[in-house]
Amino acid sequence: MPLTSRRLRAALLATASVTLVAATLPAPEPLGIGDRLFPHLGNPGYDVLAYDISLIYKGSNTKPLDAVTTIEARTTAALERINLDFARGAVRTVEVNGRTSEFATAGEDLVVDAPAPLPAGSPLRITVRHTSDPTGDKANGGWVPTADGLAMANQADAAHRVFPSNDHPADKAYFTFRVTAPKEFTVVAGGVPAGKRHHGGATTWSYRTEHPMATELAQVSIGRSTVLRRTGPNGLPVRDVVPAADREKLEPWLKKTPAQLDWMEKQVGPYPFETYGLLVADTETGFELETQTLSLFERSLFTGTGYPEWYVDSVMVHELAHQWFGNSVSPRSWSDLWLNEGHATWYEARYAEEHAKKPLEPRMREAYARSDAWRAAGGPPARPDVPTPDHKISLFRPVVYDGSALILFALREEIGEAAFDRLERSWVRAYRDDSATTRQFTTLASSIAGRDLTAFFDGWLYGKKTPPMPGHPDWRSGTPRNTAAGRTPARAPKPE
Ligand SMILES: [Zn+2]
Repeated sequence: MPLTSRRLRAALLATASVTLVAATLPAPEPLGIGDRLFPHLGNPGYDVLAYDISLIYKGSNTKPLDAVTTIEARTTAALERINLDFARGAVRTVEVNGRTSEFATAGEDLVVDAPAPLPAGSPLRITVRHTSDPTGDKANGGWVPTADGLAMANQADAAHRVFPSNDHPADKAYFTFRVTAPKEFTVVAGGVPAGKRHHGGATTWSYRTEHPMATELAQVSIGRSTVLRRTGPNGLPVRDVVPAADREKLEPWLKKTPAQLDWMEKQVGPYPFETYGLLVADTETGFELETQTLSLFERSLFTGTGYPEWYVDSVMVHELAHQWFGNSVSPRSWSDLWLNEGHATWYEARYAEEHAKKPLEPRMREAYARSDAWRAAGGPPARPDVPTPDHKISLFRPVVYDGSALILFALREEIGEAAFDRLERSWVRAYRDDSATTRQFTTLASSIAGRDLTAFFDGWLYGKKTPPMPGHPDWRSGTPRNTAAGRTPARAPKPE
């Protein structure tokens, strides 16, 4: 690897005293923050406050983008060396606090030597000049090539295949994107516009987030796009980004968003961000993704003929619900994923119940019937099995979707509708712009219910077998009642 050889060369040329210092450091190794599912994701010893990411797109999906990523952080422990998550791009230079620094790669980490030992609590400014390779493998995410440009799908562990980062939702930060593209392209990123500058045949578009964001939720769309604007509840700016040629065809779907926002606000409280909208991309990802303030959808979800209207609506509401559950309140570890997907599925199903005469109870009864099989195949909801190494999105199994919405159904049966409603509203208010654990959810639930729910949650979250359903002692799991009558079309895209 060129990075390793650069480091070796530097070591050979170094003075004796510098070599002595370098020799006191162990060989660079990939580090993590102890996530059971992604052991090398995230890095210890610092807290990122802000990313400033400049990208130059050259009008081709096969050419690497030139990039500069600047990370403002603060050390939380004494550090002599800083690990960042980064893979796939080439690193040209790294500066730490304005001084050129040696670096090496180790696994999917970029390991940077601090120019001087940094005590805990030190400000840290890391500038990495690198490339960002858009020719990645679809199975593992990162840049997603579209018919007219690029989009991003970084969940769960692929942001570091686009830009160097502390790539874990436990470390959220503010983002600024500055993207230069040939002038015939339109660039939109999550957050709000922060300037646009024309120079020669290119335009630089800047966007910044007004709330902290997990790296996995970053979105940058580069395409021959039209940006459509409308207004949501309380004047919320709604912004959709669609292929220019599809504007009219998509309008019947896009115009539903304000009413869906209104419905979600009635369920759980105010929308947590500065804007919302759909990014409709001409690509086949096999999923939709709740990128913060600008959810990614496949064009074919709306233009295909195979999906009933209620189903497409419920997928839209699923990604919208994630803006509260998963985005504003992020998982502290990836084992907390059930909190994202269980809630998004819950509101997806509740919306279909209220708007399309698709009652919740039969859906939950069917989920109950399958739940033991889902647990056997993917682990218990809050302790899911490790994803397949070459297919990390295999973490997104049925047990975290309907298998976890089922937990919320059981909880509502157990504590009653009024307490459940208070819990949902309190949860998104208490942990807004933060990341939170499963334990924090169960503690809040116990506090609102006025009794200790530990035993209840232990079975539902960690049991190999599905506990009895409160209020429905006749429900059985293990033998699906009706495997032939699928609730969704055979080729249903998966809402992530
Ligand atoms: Zn989802």
